[in-house]
Amino acid sequence: MTIGQLTIILWGEGCFNIKITKIEPIIISYTLPTPIRTSFGVMSQRNQMILNIHTDEGIVGHGEVWTNYPAWNADEKNILLKRGFEELLIGQNPLDIEGINSRINSGVINSGTGRQWGAYGHIMQAVSGIDIALWDIKGKYENKPLYRLVSESGGRVRDVVPAYASGLDPRDFDVYIGDVIDMGYGTFKVKVGFSDEVDLSNVAKMRQLIGQDRELFIDANQGWSDSEQALGMLDKLKVFGPVLIEEPVAAYKIKDYVKVKAAGLMKVAGGENLYGVREFVEPLEQMSLDLVQPDIAKTGGVTEFLKIIKLAKSYGIDYAPHMFSTGIAQMASLQIMFGIEGGTIMEVDGNPNPFLTEMLSERFVKFSDGSFTIDDSKELPGIGFVLNQDFIDKYRREPKI
Ligand SMILES: [Mg+2]
Repeated sequence: MTIGQLTIILWGEGCFNIKITKIEPIIISYTLPTPIRTSFGVMSQRNQMILNIHTDEGIVGHGEVWTNYPAWNADEKNILLKRGFEELLIGQNPLDIEGINSRINSGVINSGTGRQWGAYGHIMQAVSGIDIALWDIKGKYENKPLYRLVSESGGRVRDVVPAYASGLDPRDFDVYIGDVIDMGYGTFKVKVGFSDEVDLSNVAKMRQLIGQDRELFIDANQGWSDSEQALGMLDKLKVFGPVLIEEPVAAYKIKDYVKVKAAGLMKVAGGENLYGVREFVEPLEQMSLDLVQPDIAKTGGVTEFLKIIKLAKSYGIDYAPHMFSTGIAQMASLQIMFGIEGGTIMEVDGNPNPFLTEMLSERFVKFSDGSFTIDDSKELPGIGFVLNQDFIDKYRREPKI
């Protein structure tokens, strides 16, 4: 060992001797004024999970774990995080994100128990919250926002990220579509995959409400059984000018995606139900998608998200983050879009949603006129926000058995 190497080790131990002391899952919940309908069910209550990782230096990292479906997902995650992960994380250095992910990989994902359990997606959703919180700690420790940490140049690659309004149900949204249009969105997404009659009626109504100049996406939420059914419906729906179909069939039916894409009726997007970069490999190899939509709170956090978009880029495929949870996942996704090339558009829940609009008391990436921009004068480190503690206290609920 040289003196230089010894110096690095001693300096490293002195400066990076920070340890995880506690992980704290927090469930927040509210009843939706208007239930959100998809081809696979109805969401009448939003149950979300914030994950705080505490350290012995007082830095607290905030992450988010996807818990939208089923309604008891957050309660199950609470047990998973406290019993499956906490012991593995206590005492670890949170700045060693790669090391912790490798520890999780061998200790949970690919452990004998993990493989017997077989709950890979569920585990990766939990990992997402841990990984986002670790990146938040890293940014706070280095006093840098996430986009500077992940960007090749250390700066941003764009000044504006356009957004689209999603989660809108035509059976309700003529009540408030005017408000959503006034927010300046240029693109809207409507759910399909219910029945031929309902889909035709909903898409026609959406096109009528948004006019001819705004862009229309449609999302089947894996509702069609195969490429034949999907292409039959898309052929009927194309008259309304949708430019993109999301998840026409189940995420694992890659050959059907290839056929839908080959028909060339509109772009084919997917990825919100693929977990970790390993589940994106085959869809990308088979060229079954025109656009990947990983969800940072589901697929494994910042670390896996970065791997996925890097792999997609190697096939010439862009990304558009899937996002349907809280402002934490939204801020993390946006910072990646500001830091890494290839991002096209950001999903935003178009319904009234206090978890997006009130949960963060400060944030430096702002929404206005249908898009997001950075306010440099208010730059914050890490994921880039301050949690509104009064809001959390108001919406917090204890886990149930
Ligand atoms: Mg979707």
